Amino acid sequence: MSYLKKIEYEIILKDSFWIIRNCPKCNRKTYYKNTGKFRVNANGSKLDIWLIYQCEECKHTLNLSIYERQKVSSISREEYQRFLGNDEQLAEMYGKNIQLFRKNKAAIDPEKVNYAFVKLHETTEYSDLKGQIIIAINNPYQLKIRPEKQIAEISGLTRSQVKTLFEKGEMELQTKLPHFISVSINACSFPVDQ
Ligand SMILES: [Zn+2]
Repeated sequence: MSYLKKIEYEIILKDSFWIIRNCPKCNRKTYYKNTGKFRVNANGSKLDIWLIYQCEECKHTLNLSIYERQKVSSISREEYQRFLGNDEQLAEMYGKNIQLFRKNKAAIDPEKVNYAFVKLHETTEYSDLKGQIIIAINNPYQLKIRPEKQIAEISGLTRSQVKTLFEKGEMELQTKLPHFISVSINACSFPVDQ
C-alpha cells in the first residue's frame, strides 16, 4: 500500500528586516538596522511615533513612521507605555512588519533576511495511489524566495537537484502565491522524513 504525506511549514523571521539605502553621512549605500527604540512625540492630543533604524557604519538614524498625527485616545495606554519604554518585543514586531517598510518606502535588503523554516505538522494517509508528498509552505512575511530554493532548503537537496525534479515532472508546483506555495512530489524521488 502506498501513502500520501502532507507536510506543512512556515517561514519565520529570526530578526528584524534590514534596510538598504544611501546614507547621507557615509555617502554610499549602507545597511540600516533596527535599534529596538522608538521616538515618541506628543503634541497636544496628537501623537507621532517612529521606530528608529540606524546606519550600521556611522549610526546615522532613519525614523520609520508608525503613527502620524494619531489621536492619543486611539492608542491603548498599554501600547503607549510600551512605546515609551522601548519595549524590545514591540520594536521587533514592527521591525518584521513589511507594511511598515512599504509605507515608509524603505527598501528591505532581501539578501540579509534571516529566516528559518518551522515544521507545523505532518499527516500521512494511506491510499492506493503511488507514494506522494505534498509540501506546503506558508510565507507570512512574503519573502521573495524562489520555490526551488525553498524546497532545496527544506529537503537538503541542492537547487539544481530540485530543478531537475521539476523538469522531469517528479515535482510539480501546485500553488504559487506571495504568501504560500505548495508542491506535489513523487515520493520515490525525494528524501523523506525531513
Ligand atoms: Zn552611514
